[in-house]
Amino acid sequence: MVVNPVGRLRRIRRAVARGILVLMVRFTVLASGSRGNSAVVCGGQTRILVDAGLSCRELFRRMRLAGEEPEKLDAILVTHEHQDHINGLAVTARKLGIPVYFTEATHRAWMRWLSPRRRMTYAQWLEQCRQQNAARCAELQTALDEQETEDENLAAHPEDGSRPREADSPGAELQAVESVTSLGAGAGQAANEKDPTWLPSVEYFHSGQLFAIGDISVSPFTISHDAADPVGFVFAVEGVRMAIATDLGYISPNVKAQLKRADLLLLESNHDLDMLRDGPYPWAVKQRVLSRVGHLSNEAAAEFLENAYDGNATYIVLGHLSENNNLPELARISAERALSGRASLLANRLLLAMQHEPLASIQF
Ligand SMILES: [Zn+2]
Ligand SMILES: [Zn+2]
Repeated sequence: MVVNPVGRLRRIRRAVARGILVLMVRFTVLASGSRGNSAVVCGGQTRILVDAGLSCRELFRRMRLAGEEPEKLDAILVTHEHQDHINGLAVTARKLGIPVYFTEATHRAWMRWLSPRRRMTYAQWLEQCRQQNAARCAELQTALDEQETEDENLAAHPEDGSRPREADSPGAELQAVESVTSLGAGAGQAANEKDPTWLPSVEYFHSGQLFAIGDISVSPFTISHDAADPVGFVFAVEGVRMAIATDLGYISPNVKAQLKRADLLLLESNHDLDMLRDGPYPWAVKQRVLSRVGHLSNEAAAEFLENAYDGNATYIVLGHLSENNNLPELARISAERALSGRASLLANRLLLAMQHEPLASIQF
């Protein structure tokens, strides 16, 4: 349990502001539940927003409340295209001018969701992006040529003392990631921004292939859920491993393997089976939630914690709790009961991520 989280947040913010406290690795859940999901992972010099399920304004408000600076985010990672994970995605990415990392199928599905009547095929859209990118590169080349001419002039005056700067290569350390569009701010930006699917930069990753964003290594793994290409993530930075596994109908053997050795585990505990069965949802929706591509129940999360979990995590955070078919106390009791059967897990701290307020940053 986090005792008096508001007071703790204030103390942390004061300490950071005075330079007393240098936070190394942090994990902050900004929101969790069927009305919006988002978390911030920080480590080294890198800060990643995982999903943007709230409006940009609300994401920024919650980040500041939790002591995080939105302007310092380096990238947005998307687990899947359901609305509760992407609601504020385009606005946030544009406002900050940062890249968005998707799998290709999730990007496609997101685009279809935003422009369902779009006549353009995906291949045509990709071609349009390439052409826009080529035009932008041509513009840059012209600017560089002009700069070169200036530099040559300057070289004739060595007393200037200036040295050419090394070219920035922000994607140099990335592996298994393809840059699809890099339509940075420029002449075409105003026109691009009228397109609801326009993003400053899109990067593709593939489930099962490790890649890096700055100092944080990211391992995406496939989860069973009714989306185009849904993934969970394991983040590793400075020797700390943090895993996110929400929006999954069941925990497959591969997911179990991925969740080993995690120091922090954000695990779905979506619904209580009895509440869902007796609750207000139409039968078809109940079937969907209960299915192998739906959501993880309190009982299924407990079953995992009791029988398959390796006990390594210092923090277990239960998340994506349904507001209609669950109660925080039920989720907590169910998980606590599962953990209490294993004496070696008494040191594990169990937290609940909520829909309406951020959870105090977890620090390592
Ligand atoms: Zn989902
Ligand atoms: Zn969701």
